[in-house]
Amino acid sequence: MTHAFRIIPIPLVAPDYAEMDCDAALPVTDTLHRPLHDLRISVTDRCNLRCTYCMPREVFDDEHAFLPRGALLTFEEIECVARVFVQLGVQKIRLTGGEPLLRRGIEQLIEKLAELQTPLGKPVQIALTTNGVLLAKKARSLKDAGLSRVTVSLDGLSESTFQRMSDSTVSVQTVLNGIATAQAAGLAPVKVNMVVKRGVNEHEIVPMARHFRNSGVLLRFIEYMDVGNSNGWRMDDVVIAQDILARIAAHFPLRAIEANYAGEVAGRWQYADGAGEIGIIASVSQAFCHACSRARLSTDGKIYTCLFAQNGLDLRSPLRLGQTDAQICQRIVNQWVQRDDRYSQLRHLAMHPLRDKVEMSYIGG
Ligand code: SAM
Ligand code: SF4
Ligand code: SF4
Repeated sequence: MTHAFRIIPIPLVAPDYAEMDCDAALPVTDTLHRPLHDLRISVTDRCNLRCTYCMPREVFDDEHAFLPRGALLTFEEIECVARVFVQLGVQKIRLTGGEPLLRRGIEQLIEKLAELQTPLGKPVQIALTTNGVLLAKKARSLKDAGLSRVTVSLDGLSESTFQRMSDSTVSVQTVLNGIATAQAAGLAPVKVNMVVKRGVNEHEIVPMARHFRNSGVLLRFIEYMDVGNSNGWRMDDVVIAQDILARIAAHFPLRAIEANYAGEVAGRWQYADGAGEIGIIASVSQAFCHACSRARLSTDGKIYTCLFAQNGLDLRSPLRLGQTDAQICQRIVNQWVQRDDRYSQLRHLAMHPLRDKVEMSYIGG
């Protein structure tokens, strides 16, 4: 599909070109014809857990240089970027991190984002991914601020496995309380993400499935990925989707069901006895790059068009130089129309693993 844009290099200070009408950009598609539909925003690079597959303590220790306060995008700056993305076709915004509930006043940001409307006048869905540690305290205020949905990460039900995966002393019950409070507050459907790492928490697959059957919570299993440079990923540590499915189906028969929409990242299966459904995100064994319509805004204001990207487009400088929505819009369009990312599809071809990938806590998982 072609679109109406010329790709124009933009100098950092470019006050005198004509205001661009963002509406005219729809649909913005990349070199592989993928539209821009989702935006993930990392609101902090800090976290109160140290999951070994994401922020291993050896790297993210007391000496680690997290971003200083002034480097973070302010809520006004985030709102401005989000507004432009919505004008470009984004219908879903997910707040993430790091741990997004650590960002002070996150409710004020949600209130602003929840007021955004698509060019067709539809409200934008605001979702959030959290480790759940602070969720019992915050679920009500998040809902009141306009949050639509929440996804909670939980990698096991046994205290020892959970604490080993998260390298923390937080109890499983704290996270379960967060999930229950989110359900009661109407942040539905609550989803639970479980990253599966071979030899560490694979024995929790069936107990997790059993626990969340008939609960109204949608449990999703995620193949362990080689994001960032610090988790020491090896293919041998990945339990692939097929294996996860087989283990569950041995206890609870399953049948595959249709995706909710084109490009949904999780494959869907329903329990044959009507006890609900599960999802599997097979990012390693069944790459879904062909349908990837997601941009990520890092904590310090860079746009990344792939989870495995090495470079991002800086929007913080132009924002702080006072560029208009139209100018920010053109920067984003210029980046998206040149996008050719498909790392997961090419992973098996790589002779050498990529170095200098950004960390998930910074880019927004
Ligand atoms: N702190 C929040 C949380 O844990 O839900 C939000 C940020 S976290 C980076 C977002 C999601 O990425 C979590 O569900 C987490 O399990 C997942 N994740 C992090 N590192 C991963 C990896 N190496 N492979 C697969 N999923 C990963
Ligand atoms: Fe923190 Fe989430 Fe990463 Fe775990 S997965 S270390 S909770 S950001
Ligand atoms: Fe999207 Fe990159 Fe993941 Fe492929 S590897 S699905 S392009 S984020």
